[in-house]
Amino acid sequence: MLTREQAAKLDDEDPLAALRDDFVIDDGGPIYLDGNSLGRLPRATVTRLAELVEQEWGTALVQSWDHWIDLPTEVGDRLGASFLGAAAGQVLVADSTTVNLYKLVAAAVDARAGAIVADRNDFPSDRYVVEGVAATKGRELRWMASDPVDGPTLDDVADAVRGRDVAVVVLSLVGYRSSAWAAARGIADVVRSAGAFMLWDCSHAVGAVPIALDADGTDLAVGCTYKYLNGGPGSPAFLYVRREHQAALRQPVWGWFAQRDQFAMGPHHDPVDGIGRFGVGTPPIPGLVAVDVGIEVLLRAGIGALRAKSVALTEAVVELSDDWLAPLGFTVGSPRDPARRGGHVSLRHPDAESLVAVLRDAGVVADFRAPDSIRVAPVAAYTRFVDAWDGLDRLRRIASGWRSS
Ligand SMILES: *Cc1c(COP(=O)(O)O)cnc(C)c1O
Repeated sequence: MLTREQAAKLDDEDPLAALRDDFVIDDGGPIYLDGNSLGRLPRATVTRLAELVEQEWGTALVQSWDHWIDLPTEVGDRLGASFLGAAAGQVLVADSTTVNLYKLVAAAVDARAGAIVADRNDFPSDRYVVEGVAATKGRELRWMASDPVDGPTLDDVADAVRGRDVAVVVLSLVGYRSSAWAAARGIADVVRSAGAFMLWDCSHAVGAVPIALDADGTDLAVGCTYKYLNGGPGSPAFLYVRREHQAALRQPVWGWFAQRDQFAMGPHHDPVDGIGRFGVGTPPIPGLVAVDVGIEVLLRAGIGALRAKSVALTEAVVELSDDWLAPLGFTVGSPRDPARRGGHVSLRHPDAESLVAVLRDAGVVADFRAPDSIRVAPVAAYTRFVDAWDGLDRLRRIASGWRSS
């Protein structure tokens, strides 16, 4: 069993230990195990945003649009190259994940006949968006019932696309509750040979696990930037459209930021070629700049080193949970094989909601996801092994005195 001394030793030997200093962290503050919901603030973001506000906005004013205007594609290219495995010209940073998902699902359905396939265990916004597109466009919505712990499998997907036309399959690459990491390439193969678009929501994957959108045959993708990428609350999300599909797809919000010769102010919408056609309106510049800084800070480690530490951290959480929490009525709600698990671990208990509240009062921030999961995210960029150890230790103490209500 992992002792606190061993955890401290792992921190001493951690090649990423210094990266923690790149974040604003109060060492006397709570133990933060919720970076998959809102990532921490990078120190460089504080100075970069102050500069942006004081100089680019405060002084240069509207002239700053000369360079701001290209940020959605420039930051998109940097994100594509660093954390998405996407060649240039296929990623745009704009709007929220929900809005991007709507844009891409609607575009996919307009381009191809057939049903929308989605996962009953997916994140609520994802389920609602496909529900809405299916209803407004008069398409069948076929729900896949994936395993709540192991996530969607090749067989689940093969069953769902068999026998009828399917326009698009929408799935999360890493499950928001279970942390299950889907087999991207195998699933995309099944989906594409059925004639459908494969759309991955990478919100809980980007910055946590290596992603190879181009190589894995992904058609479309979306994802958040305020989780593992540390872009800050409400920072704009990304969308990916594989180059070969861009010309054939038209998203439903016809805004002037997708317009060819934007400032000609022409009478009809005529979208540009390329990824810019998936833009809508004026981009949120402070958020975009913060995303850029978040990417730059994580690149000091790179996804290989981040993932290696993340696996070691989540393995420690699973091990401690087995030793301490299983006898107290907890089960692990995430895949046990680290190769099938993202950056967080879900711990299930019938009183998870109350336990999370008491845990917060005891100085450990994790979160609850209905019906019975405590999500623990030891984010590699800034979480120490002793933080994971102390967090689980506090949960054990609380749970051992717990009387089920
Ligand atoms: C966090 C998350 C979202 C959030 O979408 P917003 O539009 O940013 O609110 C959507 N989908 C998934 C899978 C998520 O994990």
